[in-house]
Amino acid sequence: MTDSLHLVCPHCHTTNRIKRAQMDSAPHCGSCHKPLFDAHPVMLGGANFERHISRSQIPVLVDFWAPWCGPCRQMAPAFEQAASQLEPLVRLAKVDTEAEPELGTRFNIRSIPTLALFVNGREVARQAGAMGAADIVRWTQQHLPRA
Ligand SMILES: [Zn+2]
Repeated sequence: MTDSLHLVCPHCHTTNRIKRAQMDSAPHCGSCHKPLFDAHPVMLGGANFERHISRSQIPVLVDFWAPWCGPCRQMAPAFEQAASQLEPLVRLAKVDTEAEPELGTRFNIRSIPTLALFVNGREVARQAGAMGAADIVRWTQQHLPRA
């Protein structure tokens, strides 16, 4: 295990190298100087999805959703709340499958909301259906790689 991690900035999408010891002290992006974690999911699309999934050395939890989906909108505050609890161990992200249909197709998203957990660029778990914040956190922790 190395003593530093690659983290992709949720604001400018630059890859940062952060020492593990700094992870708990609110690290900032070396490029745009904004916080690397601000307790909000990052909105991802075709232009930046791959970079976050493949370059982040922390797991990325993706909420595939759409604006017309009632359960998705209901789950949004729970997902925000889960972000504040799971960061900085996990990056939370959202993909609007209406705006980004090719990502929905690529990952074969059949119903929304669908949560998918990516570790080192690979999907390791998937769950369809809306969940509350506590369930999102518990489900994610169950599927994280053992430290
Ligand atoms: Zn940045």
